[in-house]
Amino acid sequence: MIKEKMNKEKIISTDCCASPGLISVDKAIEHILAMAEAVSEIENIIIEDSCSRILAEDIYADINVPGYDNSAMDGYAVRSAEVSARGVLPVTQRIPAGSIGEPLRKGTAARIFTGAPVPPGADAVVMQEKCTAGDDEVTINSKVKAGTNIRRAGEDIAAGNRVLKSGKRIRPQEMGLLASVGVASIKVKRRLKVAIFFTGDELVNPGQTLQAGQIYNSNKYTITGYLQALDTEIIDLGIVPDTLDDTLRVLKTAAEAADLVITSGGVSVGEEDYVRLALEELGELFMWRIAMKPGKPVAFGRVFRDDSSQALFMGLPGNPVSVFVTGVLFARPLILTMQGASTVQPCKVIAIADFNWPGSSRQEYLRVHVETVNNEPVASLYPHQGSGVLSSVSWADGLAEVAEGQDISPGDSIAFIPFQGLF
Ligand code: AMP
Ligand code: MG
Repeated sequence: MIKEKMNKEKIISTDCCASPGLISVDKAIEHILAMAEAVSEIENIIIEDSCSRILAEDIYADINVPGYDNSAMDGYAVRSAEVSARGVLPVTQRIPAGSIGEPLRKGTAARIFTGAPVPPGADAVVMQEKCTAGDDEVTINSKVKAGTNIRRAGEDIAAGNRVLKSGKRIRPQEMGLLASVGVASIKVKRRLKVAIFFTGDELVNPGQTLQAGQIYNSNKYTITGYLQALDTEIIDLGIVPDTLDDTLRVLKTAAEAADLVITSGGVSVGEEDYVRLALEELGELFMWRIAMKPGKPVAFGRVFRDDSSQALFMGLPGNPVSVFVTGVLFARPLILTMQGASTVQPCKVIAIADFNWPGSSRQEYLRVHVETVNNEPVASLYPHQGSGVLSSVSWADGLAEVAEGQDISPGDSIAFIPFQGLF
């Protein structure tokens, strides 16, 4: 079934933007996601271990939350009508959280604490700050409406209702929510296996001394960081020399071991760029030139395994900023889709530019820092926007997305993709 889909998609129009031969970012995302399928295997895990996992079942509540009407305050449970009439009430019982009171006798108040069940007969809780406590009585200094400071049974979750939908990525708040309805274990998708390797004869890993002409393999760490944050299982195949044979060998190993292969570098049209060639030999390449800056060359396709199943492939550019940006725009949604997540696209909000930027023939992703000025998010630009300037990504809070041909002047509204929440 995937094969049919892929063949159909293979003829990708490249005329969808102003740059001939390039495809737009939106089209590229559309094609990538159309080819991604979620892993089918499911695991049962305890909720303590569920952070960042993808839920693989709908969760329904067996109970109401709260389970009973309870006090939202430390104070006194009363009949509201009696408070207006008298003001001073004898205190006949004390109800801490975890205990059950007696029905409230007429003309009395119950000392009550946050979370304790409101006794039958009481219809409001007066917070203690509005009361003057006596020995066995309380003076209530203000009127109170029925229902005040009572958290109603089922007001958060009603028994029988769906609490979470399959495909939800579990965050700390979902872990708490699951526990609040008494769910101790859940079904999740198995972790996605992602094989990574890095092309370039100039690369060495940190910890080694640089020789002339060498650079550190920073992309490995950027990619490892976002794969860890997305909770994938990483198969690191290291640095691969710039030869077709080496690239073929490692690509094959990667595809046999993983659901998805991610690489950096070697996807341009230079003589030392072997990733595309290797992909064409071991599988299929579907697109690789995207109308964006930074990050124009992105290879996407699939590699066939010996048993004729397949691994998907994403070849990110070599330039470190391009790796980060294409990782956000393409690799992250691809991974989330393959993990079975229902929300995969980064969130975009509006910010106000405080800078000038001339429109170009490709959609651009500028590294910006956003600060709130007069209650508005104002974006300023990192001065060096080169695709090798990794400090720009570290300095920035997110990316300003500038459409092709869009000139920006101070005061203009721009689309902003915050880094927060991405990884
Ligand atoms: P390439 O796409 O292989 O031509 O690489 C483009 C640029 O990115 C070159 O300047 C490379 O040295 C640099 N580059 C490639 N791979 C990495 C890497 N893993 N870490 C840091 N820089 C890299
Ligand atoms: Mg290279």
